[in-house]
Amino acid sequence: MTFEELKLQDNLIKATKINKYIEVNAIQEKVIPLILEDCDVMAKAQTGSGKTASFVLPILEKLSKIHRNPNQKAKLKVLVLTPTRELALQVANNFVLFSEFLEKKPRIVSIIGGENIGDQLLDIQKGCDIIVATTGRLIDILNKKQIDLTKIEYFVLDEADKMLDLGFEEELETILKVLPLKRQNLLFSATYPPKILNIVSKITKNPIEVSIKDESQIVKTITQRVIRVNKENKSPLLRHLIVKEKWEQILVFMANKRAADNIAQKFRKYGFKAESFHGDLTQEERSYTLKEFKEKKIKVLFSSDIAARGLDIEDISCVVNFDLPRSTADYIHRIGRTGRAGKTGIAISFINFENEEHFKLIEKRCDVKLLEEQIEGFEETGIAPLKQKGKEAVKGKRKSKKDKLREEALKNNK
Ligand code: AMP
Repeated sequence: MTFEELKLQDNLIKATKINKYIEVNAIQEKVIPLILEDCDVMAKAQTGSGKTASFVLPILEKLSKIHRNPNQKAKLKVLVLTPTRELALQVANNFVLFSEFLEKKPRIVSIIGGENIGDQLLDIQKGCDIIVATTGRLIDILNKKQIDLTKIEYFVLDEADKMLDLGFEEELETILKVLPLKRQNLLFSATYPPKILNIVSKITKNPIEVSIKDESQIVKTITQRVIRVNKENKSPLLRHLIVKEKWEQILVFMANKRAADNIAQKFRKYGFKAESFHGDLTQEERSYTLKEFKEKKIKVLFSSDIAARGLDIEDISCVVNFDLPRSTADYIHRIGRTGRAGKTGIAISFINFENEEHFKLIEKRCDVKLLEEQIEGFEETGIAPLKQKGKEAVKGKRKSKKDKLREEALKNNK
């Protein structure tokens, strides 16, 4: 399907072409007509699926039809909430890109932590049509009574699962309380566990559910590999692979911020253009590092899970799980940073005796079984510890209700 076949105006179609969007994606094909028909939407969409354009384009179409006196200040009509600052900037940027040829260009403001609040207040006072925000800073501004959300007509919750994972449930509820009851709600999440459905029920009563038929969570353009290597050899192996496999740009996921800082420093000593990326950096540092990575001035970016969601960095040839993610959802989001927009990509996970069970669980949940590789000169040594079946909880595996009841019963019997 082409964008011409959707009921979008020529000025928007022109912008899709300039941004090299030729064919409509599956999610866009389903979601765009629903939004144009004023429906509430609850879409199951992973990052990289093209979900951003699926709400940005129809919202711009609808906004452009609202008559506004050119001398009048813009009135805030659209609120998009995202879990991370980077995603907020990315979504705001999409609004800017696609509105390039509109006769009445909307004013778009991003409200995120880590940046000067004074500038943001000034932007709001000047009048804006669209706000893309993270919850914390928006609440700060709400508390100062410097923003009026009572005229919001379109409310978008992007990556709802991540938002709840990060513990923003309460903040979200605070914001929901000040929104008008009559509005169009557009919800996007990679998964819809009960916790999310509970929030959904507070936002909208009859959303139309959209998911893409038979599409596995992991896009087919990603080649997944798993390499066995001893813990202490992971760093030398990574250096070896980068050189041997001639990867252009590599995003490496680390267990935590400190590990990311330490290894980036080590790699720089070995002459690699390497940096770390995590939540302890200031917003300015985060934006700068990301910009340098996008411009390919950084080759290896060592990141905590902060980069796993939403970031749209083109052409990452390879994602490496240096340390395994905690959950399957994190695995899917991490490796989804490569193989975007139909391009091919490689996702590599390092495993060893200690974490192989955890990885098996991820494989099972992703419904894949990968061939374990060993790289010459870096083969795993040592003996596998004896498995204590049924005794040790696998890391990342949540206790089932039954497990909890059993534990409770045991405690009470003691
Ligand atoms: P998203 O899931 O919205 O973050 O989009 C992922 C990537 O796909 C971004 O780089 C988009 O620019 C790109 N993209 C989304 N829709 C299309 C499309 N219809 N044609 C080409 N690229 C697209």
